[in-house]
Amino acid sequence: MSYQAPDKNLLPRSSVIINGALSQGSGISLPHIYPATGQVTGDIHLGSPADIDAAVAAARKAAPSWRALPGDKRRDLMFKLAALIERDAATLTHLCAVENGNAISGTMYMSYDGAQKFRYFGGWADKIQGAVISTWGGPAHDYVAYEPYGVIGAIIPWNGPFFATTMVVAPALAAGNCLVVKAPELAPYSVLRLGELFIEAGFPPGVFNVVAGGPDIGAAMVAHPGIDKIQFVGSGPTAKKVLRTAAETLKPCGLELGGKSAVIVFADADLQFAAQRGLSGAISANGQGCVNGTRLLVERPIYDQYLAMLGGIAGHIKIGDPLDQSTILGPVISESALNRILGIIGQAKQEGGRIVTGGERLGGDAANGFYLPITIVADVANDSNIAQHEVFGPVLSVTPFDSEEEAIELANGTAYGLGAYVHTQNLSRAHRMASALDSGMIHVNGSGEGMTPCAPFGGMKQSGYGRLGGEAGLHEFLRIKNVWMGLAKPQGA
Ligand code: NAD
Repeated sequence: MSYQAPDKNLLPRSSVIINGALSQGSGISLPHIYPATGQVTGDIHLGSPADIDAAVAAARKAAPSWRALPGDKRRDLMFKLAALIERDAATLTHLCAVENGNAISGTMYMSYDGAQKFRYFGGWADKIQGAVISTWGGPAHDYVAYEPYGVIGAIIPWNGPFFATTMVVAPALAAGNCLVVKAPELAPYSVLRLGELFIEAGFPPGVFNVVAGGPDIGAAMVAHPGIDKIQFVGSGPTAKKVLRTAAETLKPCGLELGGKSAVIVFADADLQFAAQRGLSGAISANGQGCVNGTRLLVERPIYDQYLAMLGGIAGHIKIGDPLDQSTILGPVISESALNRILGIIGQAKQEGGRIVTGGERLGGDAANGFYLPITIVADVANDSNIAQHEVFGPVLSVTPFDSEEEAIELANGTAYGLGAYVHTQNLSRAHRMASALDSGMIHVNGSGEGMTPCAPFGGMKQSGYGRLGGEAGLHEFLRIKNVWMGLAKPQGA
């Protein structure tokens, strides 16, 4: 396996963008490690809480005029940004791959999808409408208005930073908010490059601010009195810390958290299609996607056949250099993540899981990177660790089921409720399953194709609350105001 070197000329020139100016953070420096080779691509000068103060001040200063800017003007700026993202799609694709090892065959999609989100939500910016409501009692004009919060703080994880950032920023901007975004310390490049494009697109200074940083920066944002709402994208344990801090100021928080999404394959499914989608959906973002279908539930009569199909397809998936167009699967984010995943696989074996393929770190010329081949663990009990918790690597657990009722019970039998995927050719069963599954996103005969900017995305149970995407996503960033105006004639008039 050979590796192309990351192009250092494409790396962003700063780690902080505040009030339209590029600079370096005033916190500690952290080397950025390229997961494919374990080599350092550069030093990230992380932001400090003082940088958050400056970013919030800039956003607060910009907020009144951004809110007052007519919707069509906000729309035009967002369309301009979308065009710049498309112009620079190759660079963004490269940065998305370098920052966390995601293969460019997948990150190309993220770049274009980001542009589409700014187009979709730009289209909403001039269509935010309230309502006149009927009144009780005397003559009055009673209406509902939707208004921006002011300043939104967005906390972004490392596994798909560009995707997550555009998912939050596009609706928040369209709604008339300014933003302070925390770019993840492990993978900050694409979000910082996006910040440069905001400047080029001509957004007023302070509307979009970025600070690359770690947990201290996130905590400073949640505690900051100048931030009106937090949109957090990350894990459940961190979300609980966020909520505890937010309780001090009663700050509203939207939570997009992890998942343990089931893929339910019935015997009547198009098996070849289901196996291909089952595998590609599980390993997208190198298996480090919140909504990946990593928990396969397969109807018993086809269980062995389906496992054999999965194993066969896995053998043809190209693993290797993320910067090679033909690579499908890259490395996981870090050495420690890889060791954690290997520990989960070891435990699954002890608990009766059977390794169909994979299970060992890749050696040879891949040994310096953090590579795990596709790992399929069959005969997994639904209450075991590997079936209950996020693995965050290219690891699928497989469990048989005997009836539709059992499939529903198993699928709903985790603390999460982000996605669920059903493969069947039986239409009424598909509807029954969609109704019975406790997940925010259900795909029938698919593996994520419906996750478009116009669809509401978000979780149930411990996968979070709030929605990003679609009209619901816009309303996450709007506050409701009711105005009642008495119309009675003054006495004596
Ligand atoms: P994480 O929870 O460890 O960190 C998320 C972000 O929170 C990071 O930027 C981190 O620096 C910050 N943070 C850490 N401590 C904080 C604190 N006390 N206060 C405020 N911020 C703090 O998650 P991760 O490992 O970066 O990302 C992976 C997780 O994110 C997985 O659980 C994945 O499923 C989830 N995720 C969810 C979605 C979604 O849309 N539902 C999308 C992507 C990732």
